[in-house]
Amino acid sequence: MDLKKLVNKGVDNLSPYEPGKPIEDLERDLGIKNAIKLASNENPIGPSPKVLQSIDAILKETHRYPDGNATSLKGCIAKKFNISVNQVTIGNGSNDIIEFIARSFLGPDDSAIYSKHAFAVYPLVIKAVGAKGIEVPAKDFSHDLEAMLKAIEENTKLIFIANPNNPTGSFVEFEELLDFLEKVPENIIVLLDQAYFDYSSFETRDADFEILKKFPNLVMSRSFSKAYGLAGFRVGYSVSSEDIANYLNRVRQPFNANSLALYAAEKALEDDEYMNQCLRLNYEQKQVLYEGLISQGYEYLPSRGNFISFDCKKDSNESFTKLLHEGVIVRSLGVYKMPNFLRVSIGLPEENLLFLEKLKLT
Ligand SMILES: *Cc1c(COP(=O)(O)O)cnc(C)c1O
Repeated sequence: MDLKKLVNKGVDNLSPYEPGKPIEDLERDLGIKNAIKLASNENPIGPSPKVLQSIDAILKETHRYPDGNATSLKGCIAKKFNISVNQVTIGNGSNDIIEFIARSFLGPDDSAIYSKHAFAVYPLVIKAVGAKGIEVPAKDFSHDLEAMLKAIEENTKLIFIANPNNPTGSFVEFEELLDFLEKVPENIIVLLDQAYFDYSSFETRDADFEILKKFPNLVMSRSFSKAYGLAGFRVGYSVSSEDIANYLNRVRQPFNANSLALYAAEKALEDDEYMNQCLRLNYEQKQVLYEGLISQGYEYLPSRGNFISFDCKKDSNESFTKLLHEGVIVRSLGVYKMPNFLRVSIGLPEENLLFLEKLKLT
């Protein structure tokens, strides 16, 4: 059997997404104890206590299918942000949403635009549906919106913007974003990936769902995996026009988000006070890491997220491996075409200090 001939060509060209190394793997592989993971931009404190206190009740109901329309969670999102429930699409993580968009709008004759050093999942989903990906060079590790507009081709259907971007932490300021959206032809869908919205809007003005009224071709996605601390549950969502949401819901599997995830997300949304504590800690600790990196002579990319990428001025894999052996998991950015960079997620104060201490040994 010639599997290579059988397989969908787009899929044959894919390399699987490489996640951050799990703590258990490291501890097992290297015989290390008390390893810390600062590799996947997770909330280091965890989910709101309100999630943990009440999840047992749902656990007992898990012989039932989840609510396939996620009516209750969508209602909470709609109420919180003053939008219609019909604008909301729930994903198994916001990765799911990114895939819905590619599957809804792209085919083998189409192209989609994304920035160099942008989130790795964009080229993955583009290739998987057999479409052409147009990677636009970045400007100082940020989206070059001007160049992205110029890159539009006849068959371009979709533009991806990660704001803030992972792994560079770069951020397109609000006015600049509006200016860009005004220039995008309305027959092209823009996915504004706001996985780190809570962090960025803590520091500066970021786009809220109000702008959808002006841009019917815009889809805004958000995640419960980062600031909300629910990465293991897998839940995210998008807000768009009702018409776009209608299409996204056609490719969505009926029970894509599980009951625990739906419930946890609802509880997490209610706990603004906890969220604020997490955001404040992240901001404070970011300054600690910035200063620590500078004092060791590293240049870093200013970040509007909960992570910092910094330049090792040599292949970063050496430092990455050294840190691993010291029980600190970070991310090397070779797959993002930044082979000299490491990305560290902002952890608990003691984790950040440990990271800085171990970094000195590399
Ligand atoms: C982490 C991340 C996501 C999605 O994460 P989910 O866990 O699938 O919600 C999306 N976009 C960017 C830029 C991210 O860094």
